[in-house]
Amino acid sequence: MKLPIYLDYHATTPVDPEVLQAMIPFFTEVFGNAASRNHEYGWTAEAAVENARQQVAKLIGASEKEMIFTSGATEGNNLAIQGVAEMYKEKGNHIITSCIEHKAVLDTCHALEEKGFAVTYLPVDHYGQVSAESVRNAITPQTILVSIMAANNEIGTINPLREIGAVCKEKGVLFHTDAVQAVGKIPMNVEEMGIDLLSMTAHKIYGPKGIGALYVRRKNPRVRLAAIVHGGGHERGMRSGTLNVPGIVGFGKAIEVAGRVMSEESSRIKRLRDLLWDRIRSELDEVFLNGHPTEHLPGNLNVSFAYVEGESLMMGMKELAVSSGSACTSASLEPSYVLKNIGVGEDLAHTSIRFGLGRFTTEEEVDFAAEKVISTVRKLRDLSPLYEMAKEGIDLKSVNWTGH
Ligand SMILES: *Cc1c(COP(=O)(O)O)cnc(C)c1O
Repeated sequence: MKLPIYLDYHATTPVDPEVLQAMIPFFTEVFGNAASRNHEYGWTAEAAVENARQQVAKLIGASEKEMIFTSGATEGNNLAIQGVAEMYKEKGNHIITSCIEHKAVLDTCHALEEKGFAVTYLPVDHYGQVSAESVRNAITPQTILVSIMAANNEIGTINPLREIGAVCKEKGVLFHTDAVQAVGKIPMNVEEMGIDLLSMTAHKIYGPKGIGALYVRRKNPRVRLAAIVHGGGHERGMRSGTLNVPGIVGFGKAIEVAGRVMSEESSRIKRLRDLLWDRIRSELDEVFLNGHPTEHLPGNLNVSFAYVEGESLMMGMKELAVSSGSACTSASLEPSYVLKNIGVGEDLAHTSIRFGLGRFTTEEEVDFAAEKVISTVRKLRDLSPLYEMAKEGIDLKSVNWTGH
């Protein structure tokens, strides 16, 4: 067993060996520019790109003509939101999103606010879901775009996309979803879910970093986007720049593999996740699950451990590569805005750990991780006067700490 154990699959994933094998020839022998129309080198590269485009489109129920390759989902989200804002600004200036989106969406929306757009950041319930009703109530005649993530990267909560898509269709508003964490993990279909724009990225599904795609609907309605990157007119003019052929080939292969193994893999990973959670909650008290009990990504487990100090918890389990509920922004240690927005208090948010399980996680690793977490939390609580007082039944809120 290799230490530290990697349990951070929401941050990134290793490249699957099958994906790497598919990519290798495209660095050396098959190195052509997919835009070279005059010779074999170019044609071969173009054929490989088009094959990958079909693979990627197929998994989300789209057609290959609707896929625009980007450098990843940050760019995809920027292109979708900025592209719609610029193209439809005569129609309206209002955008709806949620308060727990990835920064690639939130920061793009903030930038648009600086340019005079109005953005509504919808609240979520304490599981992290956006309701279709709240989307409906927020739509005004000025609304040009709704951008709601498919599944959250911190707490794993899956949104009711079908319902939200139906509301957007009914109101004639474009619907974008950041589907990075959902694609390849749960079934996604742009037709059934009424999605007009969808961002994805290869490196969260065992493909390489630096390549992703944006789905842009071509009919009912035909979505138009203003480009952010100009030059050469690649990707139907929406995203110029020489295509990353090896990356695209790897992305296509990663998607193909995901489609093949998804249902079996998701149940295997979910079983391991449940195992981890069952161990933790049967051996520790005062632990809280963050996220939705059922509408949940299979590989996500986000837990708050009361009466421990977040930093000490992380320090105590260096053998585990996990993420904490505190984000180190500049100098300060701020609790996660996602946890804050689902109502987790600041203290508890600092003690939260995100476990991300994935394709290469084994039961042995989960056992080790459970053991490590349990022993570390016990050790820290043994040193905690607060935990001791709580166990003695003293209501901590009633304690007069300052002695006045
Ligand atoms: C990782 C992630 C992104 C960013 O994708 P990149 O390809 O790394 O730019 C966007 N949204 C979500 C939900 C993510 O998890």
